[in-house]
Amino acid sequence: MTKKILGGILAVCALTLCAALLLFLGFLYNHFTDQIIAELEKELVFAKNGVLLKGGEYLSELPSGFARITWIDQDGTVLYDSAVDESLMENHAQREEVLQAQTQRFGKSIRHSATLMQTNIYVATKLQDQTVLRVSSTQQSIWALMLGMLPPLGIVLALAAGLSVLLAVRVSRRIVEPINQIDLEHPNVQDSYRELAPLLNRILTQNAFIARQMEQMHQKQDEFALITENMHEGFLLLDRTGLVISHNVSALRLLGVDSAVRLNLLQSDTFLAPALRDALDGKRHEDTIDLDGASYLIVASPVYDGQSITGAVVFMLDMTEKQQRETLRREFTSNVSHELKTPLTTIYGISELMVNGIVKPQDVPAFAKNIHDETGRLITLINDIIKLSQLDENSVPMSREPVDLYQVAQSVMDRLSTAAQSRQVTMTLRGSHAVVEGIDSILEEMIYNLCDNAIKYNHENGHVTVTISAPQGHARIEVQDTGIGIAREHLDRVFERFYRVDKSHSRKIGGTGLGLSIVKHGASFHGAKVHIDSTEGVGTTVSIQF
Ligand code: ADP
Repeated sequence: MTKKILGGILAVCALTLCAALLLFLGFLYNHFTDQIIAELEKELVFAKNGVLLKGGEYLSELPSGFARITWIDQDGTVLYDSAVDESLMENHAQREEVLQAQTQRFGKSIRHSATLMQTNIYVATKLQDQTVLRVSSTQQSIWALMLGMLPPLGIVLALAAGLSVLLAVRVSRRIVEPINQIDLEHPNVQDSYRELAPLLNRILTQNAFIARQMEQMHQKQDEFALITENMHEGFLLLDRTGLVISHNVSALRLLGVDSAVRLNLLQSDTFLAPALRDALDGKRHEDTIDLDGASYLIVASPVYDGQSITGAVVFMLDMTEKQQRETLRREFTSNVSHELKTPLTTIYGISELMVNGIVKPQDVPAFAKNIHDETGRLITLINDIIKLSQLDENSVPMSREPVDLYQVAQSVMDRLSTAAQSRQVTMTLRGSHAVVEGIDSILEEMIYNLCDNAIKYNHENGHVTVTISAPQGHARIEVQDTGIGIAREHLDRVFERFYRVDKSHSRKIGGTGLGLSIVKHGASFHGAKVHIDSTEGVGTTVSIQF
């Protein structure tokens, strides 16, 4: 900008100077020309009078300082010339000033010679004898005048240029300084040039817009970081060369590194390298790998910018729970089939014997009882499966209501009194009323299963104590028996579906292997926790804390 101002000022100065000089010279030149013409006219008058008095002799007597004088005959023949031999001169009849003099008595002409850089001024008059007398003078042309003035003109121009530079530097500095001092972050419109106000206002608006956008961007970045940081799944964004651009903590943990600074997954020997190579080749890669005892699904996809691949995105998803669930589902299906097959095979076998008439009439009641028992087992099993699936899917067809656990326990004990008596097991109910918000039928089923187990897996003359309490206002059920107990290694597994410590014994006494599973799911449905404590040969205590 300073350079432009400087150049502008210099150009203006130079142009002004040249124009002034040209005007000045032009004016002077015209002035001198007019003066020369006036002098020539005076001399012409003298010469005319002289010729009138003395004739041609007068001309030859004229002093040398007199202007060049030419006497031209009526036909244009030069009769006399004070500068050149007249016999050598061409006819002057057609000269402008001569023609004018012959027609108007007085003639004047100015002729320029570009080659000689001269101007010839002629003044002529017609005498009484019809001849023409002409005086002339030569002066330098305006170009010659200018050439002659070049050296002083150069000095003046150089001086003017120097002054202009000084002036231009000062002026441009004074103009530019306030502009340089503008704080572009917070421009003050009042303190600056009026002409800059629209620009500064625009900068203010732009600054506010950029600040708003930056804030939104940071907000989005924070949200993204918050989401990805709290993700259990690993997330990585890589550039074309395999360099990590973005990541979350889980990804670093799975990669076993502390930092992703300058981490290149194509160069380092990690389990992600094959997936990454595929993604950067434009192929989606999906693979399951085992890491730290867990199973991870690796998904790597290319990231496109229009046509070309600019990088890759990698997700590492923990599939352990899904796989465990899948295994459990498979085991459950196989267990159910097995559990159903056993009683059905028995029923089928007995009925076949009966159909074929092989069974003796006196044995029929025993076989019929067998069929009855196995059918009962099937119904119990199917009922248990239905209850479990309802709890699994949270689709119990009843609404919650206040349930007194003490009353429920009492009713369960009444239902089981015959079974207890047949096994010679005594039952005691202790504690007080404790009300929970829940589903009566599920709570009854839970207490029933615990009490049923306490009787089933008890010794002869054993004892079962049911205690209902509400320590710190939280209801609690405790079923304690003096039975066979459970070995430590089985304790963690007795809540699994179809898990029995002693399969044949359990089956013999009518167990389905689903009782404790229903207890566990029922408790979780009511937001309660189940705890089991047992000593082999001494007894078992199962508690449910609401
Ligand atoms: P089941 O229908 O076979 O009783 P459960 O799910 O109720 O199935 O119990 C699972 C297994 O846990 C039982 O087969 C039994 O071996 C053991 N068990 C449960 N309760 C007791 C208890 N009170 N005393 C000893 N063993 C028990």
